Amino acid sequence: MTHVASGTKAHPAPPVKGRFAPSPTGRMHAGNIFSALLAWLIAKSQGGSIVLRIEDLDKERSKPHFIDAVQRDFETLGLFWDEGPYYQHDRDEAYAEAFDSLAKRGLIYPCFCTRADLHAASAPHHGEKLVYPGSCRALGPDEQARRAARRAPAQRLVVPDEDIEFTDAIQGAYRQNLATECGDFLVRRSDGAFAYQLAVVVDDAAQGITSVVRGVDLLCSTPQQMHLQNLLGFDHPAYAHVPLIVSAHDRRLSKRDHDAAIDALLARFGSPEAVIGHIAGTTGIAQTCDPATPEELLEGFDMRALPERLRDLEQIRWR
Ligand code: GLU
Repeated sequence: MTHVASGTKAHPAPPVKGRFAPSPTGRMHAGNIFSALLAWLIAKSQGGSIVLRIEDLDKERSKPHFIDAVQRDFETLGLFWDEGPYYQHDRDEAYAEAFDSLAKRGLIYPCFCTRADLHAASAPHHGEKLVYPGSCRALGPDEQARRAARRAPAQRLVVPDEDIEFTDAIQGAYRQNLATECGDFLVRRSDGAFAYQLAVVVDDAAQGITSVVRGVDLLCSTPQQMHLQNLLGFDHPAYAHVPLIVSAHDRRLSKRDHDAAIDALLARFGSPEAVIGHIAGTTGIAQTCDPATPEELLEGFDMRALPERLRDLEQIRWR
């Protein structure tokens, strides 16, 4: 069976709502700025609004000072949001409700595999994605209890042998078979934290998100999220996965690339408008690298004509 995300539902389309969904694990860099700028332009060009959601699900990696810093970074750049911030740390009850509804249907099972087991069991497919081979799927209740006495399990969702396909506004048609290209995936970690895939689906639905714009590194997560939306009775948002900006060595920009971090960009270009203009120009959103505010870029922005340069492009070299 194939699920296709399309606007085929009979009810009128809800207003467009996009989101900024930063993980507060560092300040912004050119890649996050590019992605947020496109999220903002795509929503605003359709008369829509933006929600700010702080994705602080990972309590170890999220740092309180980055929660403030990242909001200041958005504001400095003129990337204002209309609603929020919402925090994932407030949302455990909602995640638990979704988790329980899946568990009641027998779709969840405990997994005792260690990271080492997982790496030994399957070669990475599709970049970094590991296909879970289902090692813990068939454990009986006695074996589960015996293992649980020694080690707290994570929880996985059983996936069907089903293709999920959709059309991404930037990357075009994308299809993934859940069983062979993904495998049963985590919905709760062994430390009790709900997994990103579950949290993001519950939040996107609760916050009325209709437009998800994010880095192409999350493209391969989208079928998992669409499958969860199907199971939980949520509509699919429209997706646009933006190319990653990579450093000189084809590595994706990260918080370690200090020359692409926001403070370095402000120092190098002299103003927030010059930073936005440079990123817009080098990524093909704008014709030139001239300084511009997001509002100014909106005037010439047409989502249907997303620059040809972005299509089928996985990465853009930072310069
Ligand atoms: N919080 C994620 C990040 O900062 C984004 C997740 C998403 O957009 O779904 O990379």
